[in-house]
Amino acid sequence: VLYETQREGMLSVSVGGKVPLGLERKSLRIVVTGGAGFVGSHLVDRLIARGDSVIVVDNFFTGRKDNLVHHFGNPRFELIRHDVVEPILLEVDQIYHLACPASPVHYKFNPTNVVGTLNMLGLAKRVGARFLLTSTSEVYGDPLEHPQAETYWGNVNPIGVRSCYDEGKRTAETLSMDYHRGLGIEVRIARIFNTYGPRMCIDDGRVVSNFVAQALRKEPMTVYGDGKQTRSFQYVSDLVEGLMRLMEGDHVGPFNLGNPGEFTMLELAQVVQETIDPNAKIEFRPNTEDDPHKRRPDISKAKKLLGWEPTVSLRKGLPLMVNDFRQRIFGDQKDMTT
Ligand code: NAD
Ligand code: UDP
Ligand code: UDP
Repeated sequence: VLYETQREGMLSVSVGGKVPLGLERKSLRIVVTGGAGFVGSHLVDRLIARGDSVIVVDNFFTGRKDNLVHHFGNPRFELIRHDVVEPILLEVDQIYHLACPASPVHYKFNPTNVVGTLNMLGLAKRVGARFLLTSTSEVYGDPLEHPQAETYWGNVNPIGVRSCYDEGKRTAETLSMDYHRGLGIEVRIARIFNTYGPRMCIDDGRVVSNFVAQALRKEPMTVYGDGKQTRSFQYVSDLVEGLMRLMEGDHVGPFNLGNPGEFTMLELAQVVQETIDPNAKIEFRPNTEDDPHKRRPDISKAKKLLGWEPTVSLRKGLPLMVNDFRQRIFGDQKDMTT
């Protein structure tokens, strides 16, 4: 067992200001599944900076070692190549469960949401760890309520092409609540709305990464359907702050974590034009099946109970992502995937 102490000055925001300055606390052992991915790697950065010990469990399905390479050699950091669909034994205090093929092009291939979540809940039960599930706004499906509050039960097609993702996450929420109610496991549920930022997969088909990569490569931005469907885009640092507050707080959730700023895909394309290239072209493509028409989080609950709200607007966050994409697309292109 690692018992490090540290100055509370470093903890500050991450525990919602609960521990008074000057006090010291035990370093936690935290597992982050999917920690080599986009959101996970930013979370790991914050946990390590706070002084905790982090074990990343990732099968590198969409994650990359490159996202974590700056922690290699740190004795408080460990990276395990493992598929969470298989059981694993670890001794930890907290589990951030992010492992999931999160993009439409990947998520069809994998039972991670159900079996992986069950294994991580089993682990939480065995060692008495607190478990945080990263669920998704997709649980609301093509919503009939707008904006979506946590009380809305959703409008999801159980047999569609997206079902293994949205129904998979709905099942993961059910399992989490059953382990909580039935076995007393401490769980936390976040429903994450569309998030963007540095380290996003470049070619996984999500709209922000597609538009940014296309505009940088001087290719037309592919707008699906008429481009009038809406999404709300959250910068990754806001999400990570929300996840940590949720984990440290007293409330199970579910909590919507997203930026209420709502954009049509055509408006998003316009912001990308303003940021990267005013001459970037737009090309219309047929939309995918079951594409939700609109999505915007009602974040009143997170504001009230977690004292959280996003601080980075799309126009402020996008340039930060563009710098990273520019480097990865035009800079050193060595493959660190495996
Ligand atoms: P990502 O693809 O960058 O990260 C997912 C990580 O999980 C990758 O590193 C991948 O290799 C790993 N992984 C996948 N299957 C695994 C398995 N079976 N075993 C071990 N590791 C596995 O995606 P992200 O955007 O960082 O998403 C992180 C979490 O947040 C996911 O659970 C996702 O559903 C959720 N989420 C993200 C968004 C978003 O907009 N980014 C929105 C809603 C929910
Ligand atoms: N599990 C795991 N690591 C652990 C404990 C459990 O991966 O440290 C897995 C276990 O293999 C099982 C799942 O989690 O597949 C659920 O475990 P639980 O003990 O809740 O259920 P049971 O094994 O009793 O069905
Ligand atoms: N989309 C688009 N062009 C692209 C990729 C996606 O217009 O190149 C649209 C897609 O049809 C959807 C929205 O952007 O309406 C968000 O898609 P994404 O896959 O990023 O997220 P999700 O649908 O899961 O919210």
